[in-house]
Amino acid sequence: MRPGDLLRPTDVGLYCEAGDFYVDPWRPVPRAVVTHAHADHACWGCGRYLTSAEGAGVLQVRMGREAVVDALPYGESLSIGGVRLSLHPAGHILGSSQVRLEHRGEVWVVSGDYKVEPDATCTPFEPVACHVFVTESTFGLPIYRWPSQASVFDEVNAWWRANRDAGKASLLLGYALGKSQRLLSGLDPEIGPIYCHGAVEKLNRAYREGGVPLPETSYAGAAVRGKSWAGAMIVAPPSAHGTPWARKFAPLSAAVASGWMTIRGTRRRKALDRGFVLSDHVDWPGLTGSIAATGAGRVLVTHGYTAVVVRHLREQGLEAEVLATRYEGEGDAQDRAEGEALDAEALELEAVADAEADGEAGADAPEAPG
Ligand SMILES: [Zn+2]
Ligand SMILES: [Zn+2]
Repeated sequence: MRPGDLLRPTDVGLYCEAGDFYVDPWRPVPRAVVTHAHADHACWGCGRYLTSAEGAGVLQVRMGREAVVDALPYGESLSIGGVRLSLHPAGHILGSSQVRLEHRGEVWVVSGDYKVEPDATCTPFEPVACHVFVTESTFGLPIYRWPSQASVFDEVNAWWRANRDAGKASLLLGYALGKSQRLLSGLDPEIGPIYCHGAVEKLNRAYREGGVPLPETSYAGAAVRGKSWAGAMIVAPPSAHGTPWARKFAPLSAAVASGWMTIRGTRRRKALDRGFVLSDHVDWPGLTGSIAATGAGRVLVTHGYTAVVVRHLREQGLEAEVLATRYEGEGDAQDRAEGEALDAEALELEAVADAEADGEAGADAPEAPG
């Protein structure tokens, strides 16, 4: 980084001194501008949060009712201490934004996490012209090229249908915020009933309230004991795999949906029956194409294959450097970061639901967690 840069890394996050705020801080700060509600970009305990109007509901669910969340519609700008700030769609999850900052004629864009292919659960990514572009590099290797999501959903539905015909349940794993809802949006509800883990169900509600159409789902924890799960689809976070919670759906076939499924060995290591290549991050062509579309002469590369991407950009004649942050990509770390708090809560609620189902079999099913 250089003296006079509009943003600089500090112990607590990326700081904009001219406006006295942080972008996606990893420790509590007085004023946070948040690209999206994933745990590595939105931390608990900030004085105020500014996020997109589309993402405010989901952020409020993650940060708690007491959090002060200010919402800014995409494309509208406001002035903070001489810095003009606006938010633009990043296409990653509901409400995900790129943060555009303009100060003394220089424009910076922090893209957070982003994806180029449009999907049914959020506003599509829009390239924003800038001088300095801050980009992730989660899948920043040329081997990562996503198949079209329509073909992936065809595979998922065919797998579900085959499991149903074999008398099995289908357990589909994807992280609770964003990936799960995107998976739900691609499922064919004609095949059978759809159930969700509590961590997923809670966010489904926020998505529906945000105007995203999802097929009908039920909270898996509310089902009575002894129920047959044959033919059912159960959507859960990856951390649920192999737990006693997941075993109650047996006989079952388990699959994960992740960009990492591009690499065959990943599936075997996790003892999964299937792996579907579906990511909410950009692949290699998406990454290089998006960077070019900004027209930026300088690119700062965060979490992922930073060294590879920096080298590639320098070969293209751009100024590029690694920007160290605490953001994480998709996969184990992502699942851990975002899953732990929600899972603990959901498993607790499910334990209560199970106990109640034991105590009053046949009585009214307990409600999904609020
Ligand atoms: Zn994210
Ligand atoms: Zn991230």
